[in-house]
Amino acid sequence: MHLVPTQEEVVALLRQTGGLREGHFEYTNGLHANEYLQVALTMRYYEAAKILSVGLSRHLRANPEIRAMIPELSIVAPATEGLPVAYGVCEALRAHQVYWGERENSHEPQRFRQYLELKPGEKVLLVDDILRTGKKLAELKSLVESNGGEVVGLAVVIHQPNPMAVNFDPLPFFYLAKLDAAYYKDASTCDLCKRGVPVDRVRV
Ligand SMILES: [Zn+2]
Repeated sequence: MHLVPTQEEVVALLRQTGGLREGHFEYTNGLHANEYLQVALTMRYYEAAKILSVGLSRHLRANPEIRAMIPELSIVAPATEGLPVAYGVCEALRAHQVYWGERENSHEPQRFRQYLELKPGEKVLLVDDILRTGKKLAELKSLVESNGGEVVGLAVVIHQPNPMAVNFDPLPFFYLAKLDAAYYKDASTCDLCKRGVPVDRVRV
């Protein structure tokens, strides 16, 4: 394994640990796909978590602007999937702190813990396990900005953009591997449905 794992090494690690599954899946937004990725299943194992966090931190360090900010950098993740990645990256970088956005229930907007106050202009790196639609990260970015912080970049373990993915240009965006699942808009356009492959409905 390289210090910055290659795309192939990341995919192999995800498969070995049950984080990447092949089959026929229906996502909560109605899209159908031939692959399902659940990085949390890989982050169960500290060795795997360390490989991914250290690899991602090496990408971040390679960016001179991010590197210069590390001592004051806040690593901010959407709860809960982003948390193991955020702590791993913070430790590997020796960044300043970790906190997260969370919601009471799925209808509520994300918020920070009570008494958590951002410094004006606080440098924030947004971290998550996967960027798929980017909606959670876009919401978290707005939350950071409305609290006076400055988002300086985004980092995810896996970039698996679906056709509706948010574009965060011109912010620097870091990822360890990019996966292109075959997405279908719904059951009527899905090749796997047409072939009668049994479908798994995924919860997240
Ligand atoms: Zn289908």
